Amino acid sequence: MPAMPEAGSGSQPALKPEKRQSPAAKALEKLGLKRDIDLALHLPLRYEDETRISRLADAREGDAVQIEGEVTTCELAYRPRRQLLVTLHDGSDSCLLRFFNFYPSQQKALAVGARIRARGELRGGFLGWTMMHPHTRVAGGELPQALTPVYPTVAGLPQPYLRKAVLGGLARADLSDTLPAEAAAGLPLRPLWTLRQALEFLHHPTPDVSLTQLEDHTHPAWQRLKAEELLAQQLSQQQSRRARAHLRAPALRIDGAASLHERLLAALPFELTGAQCRVGREIGHDLACDKPMHRLLQGDVGSGKTVVAALAATTCIDAGWQCALMAPTEILADQHFRKLVDWLEPLGARVAWLTGSQKKKQRTEMLELIARGEAGLVVGTHAVIQEQVQFKNLALAIIDEQHRFGVAQRLALRSKANSAPGADHGPAATPALPRAGEGVVELEPHLLMMTATPIPRTLAMSYYADLDVSTIDELPPGRSPIVTKLVSDHRRDEVIERIRGQLAQGRQVYWVCPLIEESEALDLTNATATHEELGAALPGVQVGLLHSRMPAAQKRDVMAAFAAGQMGVLVSTTVIEVGVDVPNASLMVVEHAERFGLSQLHQLRGRVGRGAAASACVLLYSTGDAPRLGETARARLKAMAETQDGFEIARRDLEIRGPGEFLGARQSGAALLRFADLAADSDLLQWAREVAPEMLARHSELAERHVARWLGGRADFLKA
Ligand code: ADP
Ligand code: MG
Repeated sequence: MPAMPEAGSGSQPALKPEKRQSPAAKALEKLGLKRDIDLALHLPLRYEDETRISRLADAREGDAVQIEGEVTTCELAYRPRRQLLVTLHDGSDSCLLRFFNFYPSQQKALAVGARIRARGELRGGFLGWTMMHPHTRVAGGELPQALTPVYPTVAGLPQPYLRKAVLGGLARADLSDTLPAEAAAGLPLRPLWTLRQALEFLHHPTPDVSLTQLEDHTHPAWQRLKAEELLAQQLSQQQSRRARAHLRAPALRIDGAASLHERLLAALPFELTGAQCRVGREIGHDLACDKPMHRLLQGDVGSGKTVVAALAATTCIDAGWQCALMAPTEILADQHFRKLVDWLEPLGARVAWLTGSQKKKQRTEMLELIARGEAGLVVGTHAVIQEQVQFKNLALAIIDEQHRFGVAQRLALRSKANSAPGADHGPAATPALPRAGEGVVELEPHLLMMTATPIPRTLAMSYYADLDVSTIDELPPGRSPIVTKLVSDHRRDEVIERIRGQLAQGRQVYWVCPLIEESEALDLTNATATHEELGAALPGVQVGLLHSRMPAAQKRDVMAAFAAGQMGVLVSTTVIEVGVDVPNASLMVVEHAERFGLSQLHQLRGRVGRGAAASACVLLYSTGDAPRLGETARARLKAMAETQDGFEIARRDLEIRGPGEFLGARQSGAALLRFADLAADSDLLQWAREVAPEMLARHSELAERHVARWLGGRADFLKA
């Protein structure tokens, strides 16, 4: 018998669907544990060893032990707070059991003379052994043969209930192997465990196993599961790549010197960098194919992605189709809109604008422009993907700062083209589209995602295996490097002095205050106070304030005044984090820099150094009540001062935060990899990448079963 129920647990898992679900059954569902296989794949976090009884005389401080003996004293104490104190004597020594929360029934069970078994961590005070809140039960009874698993759980789902449900799922689930023999043979694992062996072992391992190997996931059973998980991920990504190859998109080709594309190139006030030209060609090549593009454009902050996007848009407009450009914040969308209007409207292209805060009249006008196809380019926030927005013929969707969007939003944008009423017939100028028989061909839009948070190679190989990646690895010429300084908040005055110096040279300054997570109100006070402080310290200078609670129109006005150079200093919360472009700004001060993530700091720092002026970033840190900054915080800030390479920073950020948060997977609620660790398991990842195509081609039925088993209903999310 693998897992013995704890004393006092009488609840029965309700595994059959019932009319009214118990709270525990609901909690199971919330954890995503619906199918038998989901339960079987819900693996323990750690184990407790209840297989033996220890002697107190042999125990050491800090040991997690199970002891058995007779209660010799049992009393209530009231100081320092109400508690139950029980002395247990096991024949070799005695131990004090201390309970702060207890029921009268427990008190009764622990009466003097009772024989009990207690399990917990031993602490040695000078008065002898103690255990805080041990698990207790009546002495005697059979000892389990296997370690007791402890599962990840949520509130309202007690361990014994969950344990029973999981073991039930394990017994019923189909665990037959899905790895073709040659794939299994290529696994870099010896011995190679089968899935069934691995799961049965991990749910009740024998006590002789190394707990370290189990807990750090290096045990062969864990290795097998990680390999399976990575394979499922690769299969699903490669599958969606294949599926896309069967979809059709409008083929967009540039034609002639009179094209909007050529005229925009000629009108730009600068030459494209070599990297911009190269990625432009990569994108152009994709757009010219009648298969939907699925490309990620990555380039460090300030590398000039916007103009690449604009050129892609002109290709689309030239071919007589519509393009949508979506940005995560209203400020950024507004900035893109202004820039694109500047670039494109003189050349005769119409740009429409859509955001959530728009007046109804203007919105209706814009919706009509879009529906009639008069607007070749639509710029906006997520308002672009709302249901009422009907495109005449959307052919290209561009998502800026894609990591800031949730997965669901990306999926919604992709489905937009299919909902477009005009999608089945392009404009007269468009060459005839391929048609399947007499039926209407559903056209997908091309998709271009842009990000300034570069994706480290392992992530690109796994989560983004389904994407083609273009990289801008060169900054426009004439940029001077940004000097980054760490400065203690005590030296604020010196920083303000520095601001004066920059202003005297006609430069502009950003001052960013942190987002305080617990309270938006506090956040605001913070920024407002700094705004007042700087206003007072810099008489005659216009100091502006920008924060997330301001109405959109007001935000736009402030941003416009700063961009136009009318405002010397802009105090802001993190609303300016992504993409804002004011080349005259040369100093960025980040207050409480210790509270920001590395990638976020890198993005912020990228707001300066966009012109030719020497630029600096001051990371102001505060140690609070502590005499100095903590180790990690110091290391992180030092990393910022040491490197300006976005890839290196992303790599360090990934190390600190883990891929889930890095990718914004929290927004989607889908934990993408549960067991495998991209850094530690790169050999397994490599294996999965190699065997997946083979398996899809030659064992498609096994591949399908494998993906269904591992990803169940989540496969859709992995495609976004
Ligand atoms: P990001 O990649 O961070 O989105 P932007 O597209 O905002 O960068 O470009 C940053 C700035 O560099 C803008 O002011 C843009 O006009 C300018 N820029 C882009 N490409 C070039 C280039 N080839 N030469 C000079 N300046 C450029
Ligand atoms: Mg940008």
